Amino acid sequence: MTTSYPHLLSPITIGRTTLANRVVMGAMHTRIDHMDRPEERIAAFYRARATGGVAMIITGGVSPNPEGRFEAEGPLIAEGTDLDWHRAVVGSVEGTSTKICMQILHAGRYARLKGCVGPSAIKSRINPHAPRALETAEVWRTVDDFARAAELARDLGYHGVEIMGSEGYLINEFTAPATNDRLDEFGRDFDGRVRFPLEIIRATRKRVGLDFIIVFRISAADLVPAGMAGAETARYARLVQDAGADAINIGVGWHESVVPTIAHVVPRAAFAYTSRSIRNAVTIPVIGSNRINDPQVAENLIAAGDADLVAMARPMLSDPDFVRKAEAGQAHRINICIACNQACLDGYFTRRGVSCLVNPRAGYEPDFIPREPQRRKRIAVVGGGAAGMNFAFNAAELGHEVTLFEASDALGGQLLMARNVPGKTEFDHMLRYFALRLHETGVDVRLRNRPPARQLAQGGFDDIVIATGVVPRHLDIPGSDHPNVCSYQDVLLRRRVAGPRVAIIGAGGIGYDVAEYLLGGEPHVPPRLADFAVEYGLDLSLEVAGGLASQPRAEAARRSVTMLQRKHGAFGKSLGASTGWIHRDRIARLGVELLGGVTYELIDDRGLHILIDGKPRLVLADTIIVCAGQEPERSLLRSLVALRPEAGVHLIGGADVASELDARRAIDQATRLAVAIGNDAGRTRHSSHERAGNTDFSSSA
Ligand code: NAP
Ligand code: SF4
Repeated sequence: MTTSYPHLLSPITIGRTTLANRVVMGAMHTRIDHMDRPEERIAAFYRARATGGVAMIITGGVSPNPEGRFEAEGPLIAEGTDLDWHRAVVGSVEGTSTKICMQILHAGRYARLKGCVGPSAIKSRINPHAPRALETAEVWRTVDDFARAAELARDLGYHGVEIMGSEGYLINEFTAPATNDRLDEFGRDFDGRVRFPLEIIRATRKRVGLDFIIVFRISAADLVPAGMAGAETARYARLVQDAGADAINIGVGWHESVVPTIAHVVPRAAFAYTSRSIRNAVTIPVIGSNRINDPQVAENLIAAGDADLVAMARPMLSDPDFVRKAEAGQAHRINICIACNQACLDGYFTRRGVSCLVNPRAGYEPDFIPREPQRRKRIAVVGGGAAGMNFAFNAAELGHEVTLFEASDALGGQLLMARNVPGKTEFDHMLRYFALRLHETGVDVRLRNRPPARQLAQGGFDDIVIATGVVPRHLDIPGSDHPNVCSYQDVLLRRRVAGPRVAIIGAGGIGYDVAEYLLGGEPHVPPRLADFAVEYGLDLSLEVAGGLASQPRAEAARRSVTMLQRKHGAFGKSLGASTGWIHRDRIARLGVELLGGVTYELIDDRGLHILIDGKPRLVLADTIIVCAGQEPERSLLRSLVALRPEAGVHLIGGADVASELDARRAIDQATRLAVAIGNDAGRTRHSSHERAGNTDFSSSA
């Protein structure tokens, strides 16, 4: 059979194991083991990816000893610990060709524990806890802990392990001069600094034998000052190979690096130059990683000789059937990871557990199995934004007859604005995928159609789903109707061109988006490596220590922008846990003035009059953009409920809850309702206040 991806889909042998193709699911911290029914969830999570055709799965990191856990409740493998969930992991790939490897990760000075340890007592700026330097004997004991963890993994049925040596965790702290000032055999010079990982690989190989896979994750570019330089890293990679590793996986950047490595601002396959440098140095297979989310990108990387395999972590959340679809020539049907981090990394950091914005089933697979055979219903959906579209195609896929009404001439709602923000080109794939699913599932889409309540009530629908979204919050200050005032929608939908002096009222996610839109790069142009390298000071030749030639660059501002908020304290607190720093840093480098603790007094021809600490001030502005949040758009609801008191009316997305409006919540809620709606012949009313539970509109309308 001919394929568009001959390299990606061809088998490869690592060590003594042959993999079916070149796609590896990279390690991710998930917290699934902390959810209810953890073993059932873990098994379903990995099972979906294995049946989806991925050749090898690397689990989230498991610590080899208590002090190496990332946090107190972090996973640990040792005699006497709970090993049942490992059995669920291993069992999940049974009957498939997928191999499963456990990642062994010692968090070192990144551990959020008082007793955290490192090669030296050098504190990280991202951890309040200072590490204690390991004694020499403790280093040798830790070497043994890694080897013993691998042996336990083998005995549990894993096919291999990945030894985590990148991202600034313990092993990486030993190898970088920045964090290792030891004077014993594990420090002093290059040979001393790399000794710890080499001893781990040798000890592990000795314990597990030759049939067991050992992948070593190397830090191919530390992206911190006083990291390793490229020539040293290449030498280190050869030593890793000689010590007994079967493959090298590429890690890039420490968690404390000021360079984004996986967010949407990073160009696709941006770090191919780092995997190429390692591949040129060794003969064992090299696994490329970071921002590879499309089979063509992966194919090109391997065809160009930049890597032998590719690791994709988040793309396996967004579409577990990624490989099967690529094999079937259906790459256009892949639900592409848009690199937003909103449900995966942010889910982890906010302790919700990992999922995916564009695929809320990820991590929650058992919740989405319909409980009863579906009765075919006629369902009307009003509003074609993220919530409406996702409800519609999920319900139609379950056999319901769905009509989707959208008042404007395009589907997408708020997503149509997000896609115009520079760097957010991946959002286009989300819209494309949702539109495809509507088409495939036979949803009757009616654009430019705003059905009145009576028509809906008398239309013979079993259920009516209101997904009418939000309206921008109206400002109630003198002059808010001045012609210089406009909403973020006017700007992001290009109905209004801002002048040279702009005041932005509100500094939430949309305020930041608008500032980047006004000052950042061009919309609809995917981030380019050359620009990215210049902006973040990357040394693409890898000659400079740490791979950094300079600090991130300040930008020449195109216009004067002031962003304001009423609250005191830091700006950008509501931004995503894993991406907020990127936006805050960019806005600072773009020269945006930030004014907090303000009271809005008046808008006139000169601009925005405010009080700060009781003192009047004028922010000169020819354009005042209101980014003050949203209100739910529910005008349809009351009339519908009056006309149809017998229920079967549902409210989802921003129309349900406008505060904390985000696509993640809207899509999750919509998908859950679609699965639940057939389980209860139309009597259940839903809102986000309860996940797929019974609620009464009287409380939420
Ligand atoms: P938001 O995050 O709720 O921010 C609203 C801003 O307006 C706040 O800065 C608030 O600050 C101010 N504000 C609220 N009421 C006001 C009033 N009556 N008068 C004047 N100012 C007022 O809303 P958003 O920015 O529209 O974002 C909505 C959601 O979109 C976010 O929750 C986020 O999930 C999502 N989003 C995220 C990103 C991202 O993370 N990059 C990007 C876009 C959208 P003060 O009350 O202090 O004045
Ligand atoms: Fe990708 Fe966003 Fe899903 Fe994370 S939440 S896997 S970044 S699409």
